[in-house]
Amino acid sequence: MAGWEENIRRVNPYTPGEQPQGKDIIKLNTNENPYPPSPKTIEVMKSMDFGSVGRRYPDPNAKGLVGALASYYHVGTDQIFIGNGSDDVLSVAFLAFFNSEKPIVFPDVTYSFYPVWAQMYRIPYREIPLDADFRILPEDYESENGGVVIANPNAPTGVALPLTELEKIIRSNSDAIVIVDEAYVDYGGDSALRLLDRYDNLVVVRTFSKSRALAGARIGFAISSPRLIQVMNDVEQSVNSYPLSTMSLLAGEASVADEEYFRERIRDVLRTRARSVIELKKRFFTILPSETNFLFAAPTRISGNEMFEQLRERGVFVRHFSSERLNDYLRITIGTDREMDVLFAAIDEIQE
Ligand SMILES: *Cc1c(COP(=O)(O)O)cnc(C)c1O
Repeated sequence: MAGWEENIRRVNPYTPGEQPQGKDIIKLNTNENPYPPSPKTIEVMKSMDFGSVGRRYPDPNAKGLVGALASYYHVGTDQIFIGNGSDDVLSVAFLAFFNSEKPIVFPDVTYSFYPVWAQMYRIPYREIPLDADFRILPEDYESENGGVVIANPNAPTGVALPLTELEKIIRSNSDAIVIVDEAYVDYGGDSALRLLDRYDNLVVVRTFSKSRALAGARIGFAISSPRLIQVMNDVEQSVNSYPLSTMSLLAGEASVADEEYFRERIRDVLRTRARSVIELKKRFFTILPSETNFLFAAPTRISGNEMFEQLRERGVFVRHFSSERLNDYLRITIGTDREMDVLFAAIDEIQE
């Protein structure tokens, strides 16, 4: 074994959902938006002066996008942190806020990137089991800890924690930072943003990847107090001064400006979600209550893994997690009505 082997950092990386290529596949496996971004965003990309945009470094303060988000959410520009997707924002938050010997805590079933960052940054952590209905119990989060991370609504379950319950967690952990990952909140959950004025330990993280249909542009942001945002900026600036390209900053700003399109596409997804619940129940699926753009649903006629494989053979991609607690279930992204019809027809064929 080479001498340097013992000094190398060993990590178990996060495994993202696959990105299969091909025209005829139905892709319901990574919670992308089935609709394109706002036409105004597309127009800005097409008419951009790339000769100048490509040559120059981006604005290090991202003034355009920060200003747009600050007015949209009625907070100060010093309360917004921008990162390269919310994965980058969360990673910076872990590095910035979880610097204690005490373990940080998060649910045992949640976004599977959290334990990866904890291991990467050598942050001790403890996973707290959800209850039998996949719910977070605030009283489980009262023991001393080095920080708390809650995805709300949670992933991959889609289940939302009511704001009054979430507030109990934030209140009982006033000596630690509580990160609330709101990747899906535009689809029905209650945002913790309205608690910001009352709690100085709260950091809310959002993304443009789902409800704003800009997963490819990699735009995430955090909203918190000026003090905590400054800490995040200091950490990011110590790693990377330009986390977002000018193209992404322009795309994000144009998206925020088109509220009507944003609302309409959310409405479309919610309508298809309601219909999909009915169609899957007809096909004997057990479904958790979803406040997101996906359903966590278990077939009851065949195993989750069998259904996953059989759908895959038919070009329908959903997500399956092999851990014991989750392996009965499939995480199915809400697609267009036409895409969902292909899914239902494939299920009928499999269960015939
Ligand atoms: C999708 C997702 C993210 C990451 O989104 P980005 O594309 O990196 O912005 C973060 N948290 C949860 C719970 C997600 O589902």
